[in-house]
Amino acid sequence: MNAIQRPRLNERALARLHFVDGRCRVLVHDVESGDVIEIGPREWVLVSAADGTRDMDGLVLAGAREGVHVPKDEVVALFTALSGVGLLSSGLPERKAKRSPNSGDSLISGAQENTSHTGASGRGGSSSTTEAGVHNQQKSAPEDRKIQRIANYSFHCNGHGSCCQLYATIVFSPLEAARARATLPIILDGGERHEHVFMPERGSGPCPGSAVALVNGKCAYLDGNLCAIHKAAGPDSKPLGCNLFPLLLVDDGTTVRASVAVECACVLESVNKPGGAPILADNVYARKDLDPAVIVDELPNEVEVRPGVRAPLRDYLAWSDAAIKALESAPDAARFAWNLAGLVETFGLDPSLIAQAASDSTPLDLWLAPALVKALGRKAARRAKAQNTWRSERDLCRRGVNVVAGAATLLNDDEVLAAVAYGAGAVAQDEHFYLHAAFFGHQLVGYPLVVSLRDRALAIWIARVFPLAADSLYSGINEPAFAHPIALVEALLRGHGLRLYTEEVVVPTR
Ligand code: SF4
Repeated sequence: MNAIQRPRLNERALARLHFVDGRCRVLVHDVESGDVIEIGPREWVLVSAADGTRDMDGLVLAGAREGVHVPKDEVVALFTALSGVGLLSSGLPERKAKRSPNSGDSLISGAQENTSHTGASGRGGSSSTTEAGVHNQQKSAPEDRKIQRIANYSFHCNGHGSCCQLYATIVFSPLEAARARATLPIILDGGERHEHVFMPERGSGPCPGSAVALVNGKCAYLDGNLCAIHKAAGPDSKPLGCNLFPLLLVDDGTTVRASVAVECACVLESVNKPGGAPILADNVYARKDLDPAVIVDELPNEVEVRPGVRAPLRDYLAWSDAAIKALESAPDAARFAWNLAGLVETFGLDPSLIAQAASDSTPLDLWLAPALVKALGRKAARRAKAQNTWRSERDLCRRGVNVVAGAATLLNDDEVLAAVAYGAGAVAQDEHFYLHAAFFGHQLVGYPLVVSLRDRALAIWIARVFPLAADSLYSGINEPAFAHPIALVEALLRGHGLRLYTEEVVVPTR
């Protein structure tokens, strides 16, 4: 088979090293299908040698050099199996152009599924700016674009380390990995060899980033609730992504929005709490002031409004600013998002209609809601079933996905769904900030806007019943990450790919 002449794991494959209740496991995630394949550590020695330069004989020899003696027919069988599930390519990957800060090929980008944002402690200061009225400014050269920060927000890490135990991938640059291994060589014996504690970010060939091993779902460098790297060598020694968390940067063509990922309880605990760390240093005024390693996502020239229908970026920006303003007076953030989706679906991006969505008197049309609940419930249940076979019971991600599946089951009852959609269980401040950050940071772009708006409403409804589901599944467990459920739900939807449920919704007829 040609595909396995000189094999390598392709970019669909994310191999991750997990230590689960003391056992070393290698999981290969398929980012397209969401499937996960487990291979043994000995097989990984062979797969990691498959960088597109070795044929089967070369792989047999590479394995033997590492003490893994496997007959050639077994090596062929291993790679034939990986080829059969679409995770192999043959030969060296094409060389990419030099990585630019704006490439989107990010060590810290929040735009991809299954990538990381992780945070820790140790920053001080404050931040404040204004948000409104910038899209009528003239377009500036990208590097001169002003940074516009989410208003009145500074970050307080709560020291629980939740974000260090939630992400499937925590990426280190080569220098960050070398520094961590040198600072803390005994962690998983990483001082001996890089591959004891790191895997390639993607595929099996050389790549710029390394994903750190997870121990029961936690970053290997998490010591109790604190970052061991931070403790031993100071905050600047941590990976850039950890230091920047929860910052998200998006260039919308007129300004660079500095927003936050609402994916950790501490992000919400920081709301209306002055005196925390600025999300970005106060002396960063324009895009050119940013560290070149920091990735800034860029909005496209057209934004998908509903499937197959696009609008010019300027129309989206005007609509988005109007939505941010209207949200301030909306009594219920989820209801606002749900009603706004209906208006956008029928009338497109008309800023003059947005106030209707914010009004309590606009009837809530829930006909599509059960279909979304079912699709998310199916996705979460499948993920829970798969994860429960290999993740530790102590793993926060495992517990979170189980609770989301349980919450979707509760919402499957039409009466419960209606009660929740009309406000039962609401946590107004968290929900408003969650939606505000999504609008301000242009986080709804990427899926059609109507899909994103309904998805955010459903995320809030899931969060409203999350405590009930958590109590029935994990009664008596004091889990800090459960304190602000919408943050955990969002982390699982984005960071663990549950949001792909939106592609599996079976639309009912009226
Ligand atoms: S390196 Fe430190 S801050 Fe980053 S995820 Fe690991 S423990 Fe957390």
